[in-house]
Amino acid sequence: MSRAVLITGAARGIGRACALKFAKEGWDVIACYARAQHAAQSLEQEIRQMGMQCRCLQVDVTDRAAVHRLVLLAQAEFGALDAVVCNAGIAQQKLFADITEDDWDHMFDVNVKGMYHVIHEALPQMLDRQAGSIVTISSVWGQTGGSCEVHYSASKAAVIGMTKALAKELGLSGIRVNCVAPGVIDTDMNRMHGEDVMHALAEDTPLGRNGTPEEVADAVYWLASDQARFVTGQVIGVNGGFYI
Ligand code: NDP
Repeated sequence: MSRAVLITGAARGIGRACALKFAKEGWDVIACYARAQHAAQSLEQEIRQMGMQCRCLQVDVTDRAAVHRLVLLAQAEFGALDAVVCNAGIAQQKLFADITEDDWDHMFDVNVKGMYHVIHEALPQMLDRQAGSIVTISSVWGQTGGSCEVHYSASKAAVIGMTKALAKELGLSGIRVNCVAPGVIDTDMNRMHGEDVMHALAEDTPLGRNGTPEEVADAVYWLASDQARFVTGQVIGVNGGFYI
């Protein structure tokens, strides 16, 4: 029987690469997106062509009722969830002095509270089975702090704290919780930077380039899989050595 993973923010970027990686490894995928409907439809098609099941629904992770419906649908269609990947996230570049209260709240609503909603809804079935693996996505800026991204950095640091605390709380229940902290990855999220900035970031990276979504997905999959069965509470940097 195939296994099932729930991935948030899976229509584009790192989430999409994760969905394709899990499907390639023989997992069914239940996923969500916020706005990218066409990309979501093409993801479903691509995964079905790979012979696995996929549903990618429009669910805003800040909407608890919608997250609840997503998890119920996952259970009804795919049975128990073996893994959850909390990937959905937003970024914003602003001087700290210009960050409004709304900016701050929205950043934390999506990047932190959204993760709380998803894990809180998916957890009961994992606790019932005393099994499961959760992978959160933080950022190198959550580890080091990023100038002009104070609210983003703070939200991604919160993800790391959440991951470590949950790993301690859930270990004896057979549930592992780990985090991937990507460095600079070539996705739409970084389109706000010009090419010169992306080039400079690549030059600051010991491996001499920015990363790909697929390289992040490989680490996410490894952490979710049984290959990492004795790994919990860890933050794996996929950053080309940008932060060591
Ligand atoms: P993208 O902007 O390409 O993708 C973000 C994804 O999150 C999209 O699928 C988007 O949905 C989804 N999303 C955003 N808000 C919501 C919401 N409220 N509800 C549901 N889904 C939502 O970014 P990346 O792929 O680069 O980022 C993925 C994760 O990786 C994020 O958590 C990000 O912070 C993190 N990260 C990225 C890095 C990078 O350099 N790219 C570096 C470090 C961390 P939709 O497609 O519908 O808009």
